[in-house]
Amino acid sequence: MSARRWGLLRSAVALLLAVLLAPAAWAAPESEPQMLSDLVRRAYDHPDEALAQLSQRWPADFNGDASREAAWLFTRGRVLLMAGRTEAADELAGRLIARPEGVDRAWLLRALIQERLGQSAGRLVERALTGMARDCQLDRQPLPQPLPSGCDAYGAAEALRLIAREQMAQGALISAEGQLRRLLALSQQLGDRRLLVSVQGLMAFVLQLQEQPAAARTALQAAQEAAQGDALSQTFVYAYTSLLARRNGDPVLQRQSLESALESAEQADAPHLLAVTRANLVDAYMHQGLLKQALAQGRLALPVLQRFRDRPFERTLHHNLAVAHIKLRQFDAARQELVRVEELGSDRGDLAQHARELRELADAWAEAGQYKESLNAFHAERDLSARANERNREAAMEELRRKYDSASKQRDLDLLARDGQLKDQQLANRQLAQQVGVAVGALLLLSVVLIGVTLVRMRRAQARLTANQDLLRAQSERDPLTDLSNRRHFLAVMEQRAREVDREGFQGALMMIDIDHFKHINDQYGHAAGDAVIVAVARRIRDAVRDADLVVRWGGEEFLVYVQQASGAELAQMSERVLRGIGTTPIATGDGRELRVTASLGFASFPLGGPVAGLRLHWEQAVNWADMVLYKAKAEGRNRAVGIADVQAPSPEALAALLQDLDGACQGGQVRLLTLSGPA
Ligand code: GH3
Ligand code: MG
Ligand code: MG
Repeated sequence: MSARRWGLLRSAVALLLAVLLAPAAWAAPESEPQMLSDLVRRAYDHPDEALAQLSQRWPADFNGDASREAAWLFTRGRVLLMAGRTEAADELAGRLIARPEGVDRAWLLRALIQERLGQSAGRLVERALTGMARDCQLDRQPLPQPLPSGCDAYGAAEALRLIAREQMAQGALISAEGQLRRLLALSQQLGDRRLLVSVQGLMAFVLQLQEQPAAARTALQAAQEAAQGDALSQTFVYAYTSLLARRNGDPVLQRQSLESALESAEQADAPHLLAVTRANLVDAYMHQGLLKQALAQGRLALPVLQRFRDRPFERTLHHNLAVAHIKLRQFDAARQELVRVEELGSDRGDLAQHARELRELADAWAEAGQYKESLNAFHAERDLSARANERNREAAMEELRRKYDSASKQRDLDLLARDGQLKDQQLANRQLAQQVGVAVGALLLLSVVLIGVTLVRMRRAQARLTANQDLLRAQSERDPLTDLSNRRHFLAVMEQRAREVDREGFQGALMMIDIDHFKHINDQYGHAAGDAVIVAVARRIRDAVRDADLVVRWGGEEFLVYVQQASGAELAQMSERVLRGIGTTPIATGDGRELRVTASLGFASFPLGGPVAGLRLHWEQAVNWADMVLYKAKAEGRNRAVGIADVQAPSPEALAALLQDLDGACQGGQVRLLTLSGPA
């Protein structure tokens, strides 16, 4: 999923939000639901006026029609929300939820509040849509004509829009397209031209995201045709054209379309929409290097967005302005904008959008030579991308789980979930998880015949995902020079054993090995010769120990051998074998030279003091002991192995004290060492 896609998403959805709410000047209201819907539309650009009208028209008596009363209350909640009065709207949702006719509307209202606050509305809107889809029989094809009497068609349209938004944010594009098709059928049924224009525009966008340019063009054309002769509808068509142009990397068309949108929004007397268009123009100007113009549009848009308390767009605008300021090298101004971005809250509903912004910031800071701030933004972005990726995968799996909850598929999913915990393979996985997501989406839409095909595709993607993860994990835990395991792998093994086997403490033996005077080799014969020596020593250590023993490249020219089981005598023999293996025959460095190399070795068997004393240690402490005796071997003259023959300590604390002063402990007889010489 391209990062850019997310940036466009908010604009696209906001446009649809706006059209759902825009005044329907082209047609006289035919029915009460239509009239209420028009009031909400009016409220997007003129909230106070709409509130006043709603109060004026409020029925004196609902004559016991609870459903009708719920519809009016819901409308009031939505108008309040348009006026930025989220708390009052939430209070209304609380009143609605108490009555059976209001429950679905209450969920929807709460979802809309979440959206307005820039947060995820997924669960809430799903609950709302379940009931509304049932009441409207949305799953019937064609839709019933007329729609059933209990159907809140505009509410259902709103819920479908929100669901599509959530799905797009999660990369479930096919699912989103499916919801938009339902929405399209509904808006055709309602005969609502503006709704139709906007759904087609959003459809074009979703199709374009799925790399279906021809289908996207057709949808955009349908939008254009429906928009003829209506300034507001044309604003939307221009806006969608610009969105697609941005997606297609055509900054000129992007800018020109937005400039046209600006004109028609002015004609349509839509101040809120005008401000949103300006906020989008900031981005368009910036991408064409027209920074001054970008700032000017931003300044015009900001007070309006604030007046409408449009937090998501205000936040996006501050971000865009920050980037423009960085590019103009006005760093203090940029920081002030970023403070505002923070104050408006990180948009937890759309991690990917936030991540894209951070990346844009990182790039801008870097371009301006501000590397520290660039790095900060970059790190934050990586973090967020990882979370977004994880969440998208979870969403895809959740969707599948709900739909196809059979045992065998569950197994596949569990496998995927377990693999999903590996955090460091995001790159390849992002694409594959996306494929899984798309396949999941397809499952919801395709006929039974096609489900089989999709499942195969999904399984393949999953299999590739699993294989890729195994490969990446293997690669990430291997040292490229010597092909030995690296520290990370050792750590993973230790953590797994600590969980599953060595719960009481580390058991087994360790050998820590360090090549003698290695710097000398590097200095005298060069780094390449040094590398050749490291590779040869690695191979010789591998040959000297058993297959079951784990040989780790611990650091530059240090190696660690982990032996799961060996008696004291066996361990001493193995250590000698390692020293002889390394030091007996000279090593060819590849440039015709042969070098004699020796190493020093520290070894110890755990638990210290033998199984009876049972002095248990964490594996890290065990490594410290091996390191300490290696140090003794170096101090005593190198080319030798020093091991722990015996330890006497009454408690873990006493044992720790011995490690602090190993020389003293040796002299005091609490620790007995064993020294073995390397080859002469
Ligand atoms: P000592 O006998 O005390 O171990 O002496 P030494 O010279 O081996 O000292 P030390 O262990 O501190 O030196 C390690 C050197 O290994 C320092 C570093 O430049 C070099 N080194 C680390 N990794 C690599 C590597 O991958 N390739 C090469 N050629 N050199 C490395
Ligand atoms: Mg060293
Ligand atoms: Mg060394």
